[in-house]
Amino acid sequence: MKPISALFPSLLTPQKVVITTHQKPDADAMGSSLSLAQYLSKKGHEVTVIAPTNWAGWVNWMPGAATVINYEKQKEKADVILDNSTILFCLDFNAFSRTKTMAAKLTQLTCTKVLIDHHQDPAIDSFHFGINDTAKSSTCEMIYDLIKEAGDLSLIDVPIAECIYAGLVADTGSFRFASAHAGVHTIVVDLKSRGLDHGKIHEGLYDNFLENRLRFIGYVLLHRMEILYEYNTALITISNSDLLKFQIKTGDIDGLVNYPHSIQGIKMVALVIDREEERKWSFRSKGSFDCNTFAQTFFEGGGHFNAAGGKSSDSLDKTVARFKEIIKTQSSLI
Ligand code: 5GP
Ligand code: MN
Repeated sequence: MKPISALFPSLLTPQKVVITTHQKPDADAMGSSLSLAQYLSKKGHEVTVIAPTNWAGWVNWMPGAATVINYEKQKEKADVILDNSTILFCLDFNAFSRTKTMAAKLTQLTCTKVLIDHHQDPAIDSFHFGINDTAKSSTCEMIYDLIKEAGDLSLIDVPIAECIYAGLVADTGSFRFASAHAGVHTIVVDLKSRGLDHGKIHEGLYDNFLENRLRFIGYVLLHRMEILYEYNTALITISNSDLLKFQIKTGDIDGLVNYPHSIQGIKMVALVIDREEERKWSFRSKGSFDCNTFAQTFFEGGGHFNAAGGKSSDSLDKTVARFKEIIKTQSSLI
C-alpha cells in the first residue's frame, strides 16, 4: 500500500469515484464518506457513496445522506457503478469482510483501491494506496487532514464541516476519550470559523430518537444488565424478542454499551444483541484492557483498544455462557 499522497496526481484528472464504508455505517463512517464525496465532487469527480447495508435514521440529517445507495437493496445498480469506477475509497474499515455481502465484489474489482481508516490490523495487501493511523480520533479527522494536505481547506463549506464534525463528536465520545487530542480541537476551531453550528450536530446525533428507544433503554438496564463485580465487568444481553417488542431499529442501540461505565469500578462492558444472522458483540473498556485483542481472540472481531466488536454463530445462551467463562480467565487484565 503506497502513501495516500502518491494518489494525488491521479486526482488531477476527473475520476469515477465510489466511496464505501463498513456495514451499518455510524456517524464517523457516514460523515467521512459524505464529506469526502462533497469535496471530490467540488474537485470535478463523479462520486457515488455506496453503503453495504442500511444505516441508523439519525444519520439521515447529514448533507448528502439521501443520495447514498444501500447495496443490499440496490445491488444491481450498485454493481454497475462499481464496475465502471476508476477509484474506490474504503473509509472507516480496513478489511473487506466488514462490508458483508459487498465483500466479494470489492475483492474482485480491478480499479484503484484506497484505504483511509483508524482501526487496528489493516489488511494492507487489499489496497493500492492509503493511510491507516490508529492515533487518529476518527476517519473524519483523516478526511480533514487529506483536504488540508491537498491545500483545499478553502473548499470546506458548512455541509462538509457538518459531516466532519459529526464523526469527530461520535468517535471521541463528545470529546471525552483520550483520542480527542489537541489537533481534534484545532480542527473544531477551524470548522467553527467556517460557519459550523455545532449544537445542531449534537441534536442530530443524540436528540433524534423515538419514545420507544428510551423506554427500551430503561427496560434493558433494569432487566438485561448483569454486573460482575468480581471482574469489574458489566454484561448486557438483548434477545431477539426484546428487539421486536420495542420495535428497535438499526442505530437505536448505539451508545447503550457506554451506560454501565457510569457505575464506579466498572472497567469493561460487553453487550450482545441476538440478531437474526448472528450474535453481535460490542466491547468497551476504560484503561488498560485491550478490547481489540479480546474481540479478535474470542469473538471473530476487532476494532480499537478501548472499543471493539465481534460476533458469534452460537445461540444467545451459549455465547453468553462462553463469555462468562472467558471473562474469568481475563480477570487479572481488567
Ligand atoms: P461497535 O461496538 O460500535 O459495533 O464497534 C466498536 C468498534 O469496533 C468500531 O470501531 C467498529 O468499527 C469495530 N468493529 C465492530 N465490529 C467489528 C468486527 O466484527 N470486526 C472488526 N474488525 N471490527 C469491528
Ligand atoms: Mn471511526
